[in-house]
Amino acid sequence: MNINSNYLNLKDSYLFSSIAKKVAEYKNENPEKELIRLGIGDVTFPLVPTVISAMQNAVSQMGNSETFHGYGEEQGYAFLRQAICGYYAKKSVSLRDTEIFISDGAKSDLGNILDIFDVNNTVLIPNPVYPVYVDTNVMAGRKIIYMDGNPENSFLPLPDYSVKADIIYLCSPNNPTGAVYTKEQLGLWIEYAIKNEAVILFDSAYEVFITDKNLPTSIYQIEGAKKCAIEFCSLSKTAGFTGTRCGYTVVPSELMQNNLSLNKLWLRRQTTKFNGVPYIIQRGAEAVFTDEGYKQIKENIDYYLENAKIIAYTLTSLGIWFTGGQNSPYIWLKCPNGLSSWDYFDELLTKYNIVGTPGAGFGSNGEGFFRLTAFGNRDNVNKAMKRLLQQQ
Ligand code: PLP
Repeated sequence: MNINSNYLNLKDSYLFSSIAKKVAEYKNENPEKELIRLGIGDVTFPLVPTVISAMQNAVSQMGNSETFHGYGEEQGYAFLRQAICGYYAKKSVSLRDTEIFISDGAKSDLGNILDIFDVNNTVLIPNPVYPVYVDTNVMAGRKIIYMDGNPENSFLPLPDYSVKADIIYLCSPNNPTGAVYTKEQLGLWIEYAIKNEAVILFDSAYEVFITDKNLPTSIYQIEGAKKCAIEFCSLSKTAGFTGTRCGYTVVPSELMQNNLSLNKLWLRRQTTKFNGVPYIIQRGAEAVFTDEGYKQIKENIDYYLENAKIIAYTLTSLGIWFTGGQNSPYIWLKCPNGLSSWDYFDELLTKYNIVGTPGAGFGSNGEGFFRLTAFGNRDNVNKAMKRLLQQQ
């Protein structure tokens, strides 16, 4: 018996454990200090009332033999897939419900989708990046090429035709940088993918944060995308489903490689290896796409966006360079005075009592940068920004 030795090539992830350790030590030595956490990657608002009542109703149905649901479709119930088609129609994207797959979140599908691709494919991944793209490919032993995100390209790398890739990861709005691709920029990627017979794995977990009407909230708003892109969406940040777990993946039927339908391959994979999402959760997810549900979740999103705006405004007045802060819950800033990510972490912690996330934890190009998030409470955001402004 041999293990999958690719696992030995995974780098240990010390980022969040190192942060927790440093914060605990500081708190221990300075119990009187009030720390403000602006590194939170989880939502802080609970599920909205419309979602809760849909789930309560579904719970009651499960207790009655007439309305009880046993094994469900692995691809997800038609009522939810149709509700998602309706959501896309409002974005001027026409999808069939057979092109939508309900998941227990974007992370699972972003990793599992690799099952349908050859291990010899070359993968193109931005640096800095959401670490799941890298680790899932390392586990499979795939060759990874990195594309540089940096201040020169505003952390939005564009295609380089001298690089030949088969699988391309794009994330917009981006975690960690908060940067958002324009339609023209995504158009360049679609052109590259079609020319190279590559597939784009488009992570739009934060699409609901886009308020600028000129920016795309789905890659399918750009011509040609259905021929080359799979889109991964999540209700985690959209509707506070981080604990409840639900997302969806779009695999268009037009998406073919070597005359094979990726939609069919993915359906085969999911019906074999995935148990589906519980009925109660899918009823809650369906409620997100009703007029009332959507209005309620948007109120929470607007609150987070206002937090981001306050942080962005403060950084602008301090003359600190950053990306994100609008159309995104993330703010990615250049550490002042040439500090390294971890030195700035220490400075923020000890001088301002603010906790954030060192950019170096998201890849080598994150060194010298720092991530703040907008998922916190407004009073805390205001207080933290006041500290930064007063103590400069
Ligand atoms: N994609 C990105 C870019 C993320 O930042 C996250 C979560 O932080 C996910 C996907 C995972 O989403 P889910 O909670 O739906 O698995």
